[in-house]
Amino acid sequence: MQFVTHEMRTPLTAIQGSSELITRYALPDEKRKQIAGTINAESKRLARMIETFLDVERLSAGEMDLKRDRFAASELVDQCVVRVRPIAQRKNIDIAIENVPGSDLTGDRELMEYAVYNLLTNAVKYSPPETRVTVSGSEARGAMRLWVEDQGIGMDKQEVRRIFERFYRTRKAEQTGEAGTGIGLSIVEQIVAQHGGSIVVDSTPGKGSRFTLILPKDGGQ
Ligand code: ADP
Repeated sequence: MQFVTHEMRTPLTAIQGSSELITRYALPDEKRKQIAGTINAESKRLARMIETFLDVERLSAGEMDLKRDRFAASELVDQCVVRVRPIAQRKNIDIAIENVPGSDLTGDRELMEYAVYNLLTNAVKYSPPETRVTVSGSEARGAMRLWVEDQGIGMDKQEVRRIFERFYRTRKAEQTGEAGTGIGLSIVEQIVAQHGGSIVVDSTPGKGSRFTLILPKDGGQ
């Protein structure tokens, strides 16, 4: 709870401060626009945070029913990549899709999209400009592997051990200045577990990381 309120205080303070400025002072148009932009961005950030917190709660309380959708892995990956590309372009990061199987996965499509999207945004967030992110896949013995590889800041073994803890962020991640709450991966891990799968991380500091989802094709049933 302490962490949650602490996390929410930052955008709230920005929203309060900015709206006060606008109401109290006669400001030039340009300045007003800039402040309105801040209010908009910070309230969106707050809304995202609340959504994510709710998802964690529903999942861990078992209140969220896993749907049993059937969807092609390649189509899921394509959609996630389309969503991440604009963010990647800002850093001139190229996202490549390699050999992702077109066959079906069974499970909650929305949650799986959350998981893959999260790995992709992390790969972009924690990589320097002008690098490459690759999504690949393979299939064997009833399981599908999907992995996201980057050429980013990487992590040492001790850090990797902790990244699925809620609110944990590596020091290097903090230093990048990229916004984050440190809860995305804890949700990804829960989603994958609910589908009877697992997640494996290989990473080298300064070189890059690879996150592999191992998913039973029948969604664990
Ligand atoms: P957030 O990105 O909001 O901080 P996550 O739970 O998604 O939270 O990730 C937790 C931490 O794991 C990140 O803060 C970062 O330190 C580390 N991490 C995740 N993905 C990567 C990656 N691709 N490369 C390097 N570090 C990563």
